[in-house]
Amino acid sequence: MVETRIIDGKAFAENLRKRVASDVTAFHAATGVTPGLAVVLVGEDPASSVYVRNKGKQTVEAGMASIEHKLPATTSQAELLALIATLNTEKEVHGILVQLPLPAHIDAQAVLSTIDPAKDVDGFHVVNAGRLTVGLDALVPCTPLGCVMLLKDQLGSLAGLEAVVVGRSNIVGKPLAQLLLREDCTVTVAHSRTRDLPEVCRRADILIGAVGRPEMIRGDWIKPGATVIDVGINRVTLADGKHRLVGDVAFEEAQGIAGAITPVPGGVGPMTIACLLANTLTAAKRQVEA
Ligand code: NDP
Repeated sequence: MVETRIIDGKAFAENLRKRVASDVTAFHAATGVTPGLAVVLVGEDPASSVYVRNKGKQTVEAGMASIEHKLPATTSQAELLALIATLNTEKEVHGILVQLPLPAHIDAQAVLSTIDPAKDVDGFHVVNAGRLTVGLDALVPCTPLGCVMLLKDQLGSLAGLEAVVVGRSNIVGKPLAQLLLREDCTVTVAHSRTRDLPEVCRRADILIGAVGRPEMIRGDWIKPGATVIDVGINRVTLADGKHRLVGDVAFEEAQGIAGAITPVPGGVGPMTIACLLANTLTAAKRQVEA
C-alpha cells in the first residue's frame, strides 16, 4: 500500500498566475504593450457566464486587458464571424477566445477556424493543432498544457514512461497525447471503442481520465504507484438531492494505490485559466516580436 499524494492544482495555478503577472509587468516595461484578451460569449449559458466572469477577473489580476463581447443567443454566424474578423485586426487584442458551447445554429468549427492562429489562445485552430503535431512552436490547448505542467512538477522528466490517455477529444485527449509524445512518453490513446480498457489502464505509469463519466476509472484499473490526472468534471446528484462535483476516476478507491492523483475540484480545473493567461502573454510576445 502506497501513500497517495494529492496534487494541489489550485496552489500550482496560483503560483503560475503570479509568475505570469510578473512577466506581464516586465514585458510592459520593456515594450509599453499590455497584453489583451478578447473573450466572446454568445448567449446566456449559466456555466459559460461563470467561466467568462472568472477569466475576465483573472486576466485583469494578471495585469492584462480583458475585452468582453457578450452577444445575444440570436446572433447569426455571419455577425459572429464579422466580430472575429475585427478582433483579428485590432492591435490591442493579442488573444481571442470564443466561449464554447455556441448556440446550435452556429458551426463552432467554422468560427474557430476564422480566428487568426497567432491570436488563438485556446489552441483549437487547425494550424496550431498541426504545428503541435509536427513539433513546431504552437499555442497549445490550455487544459492539456496544465496537465503536463502538473506531471512535470511531480515527476521531473517523463521520458520513457507509459502514458494512457482515456478520451480522444480535440480539446483534451488528442492534444494531451501529442504533448506527452513531445515529452518522450510511450502514449496510448483509449476511447469508447477500446477493448479491455481496465487492462490498458493498468499498464500506465501516467493515467489520464478525460472522458466525462463520473468515477468510471476504478481503483483496480490503476497500476500501483501511477500518477493519475483526472480531467473529468461531472456534476452528480446525491441521495439527499444535493450536488457534488466528481472526476472520471473513483478518487477514494485510488487512495493507497496511485502514487499521486489530482482531486476534483482543485486539480486540473484551476490550471486551465492559468494556462490561458500564460498563452495570452506568449501570443502577445510573439506578435510584438513579429
Ligand atoms: P468529450 O465528450 O469531447 O470526449 C470524451 C471522450 O471520452 C471521447 O473521446 C469518448 O470516446 C471517450 N469516452 C466516452 N465514454 C467512454 C467509455 N465508456 N470508455 C472509454 N472512453 C470513453 O469530452 P471532453 O474531452 O471535452 O471532456 C472530458 C471531460 O473533461 C469532461 O468531464 C469535461 O467536463 C472535462 N473538462 C475539464 C476541463 C477543465 O478541467 N478545465 C476542460 C475541458 C474538459 P469516443 O471518441 O470514442 O466517443
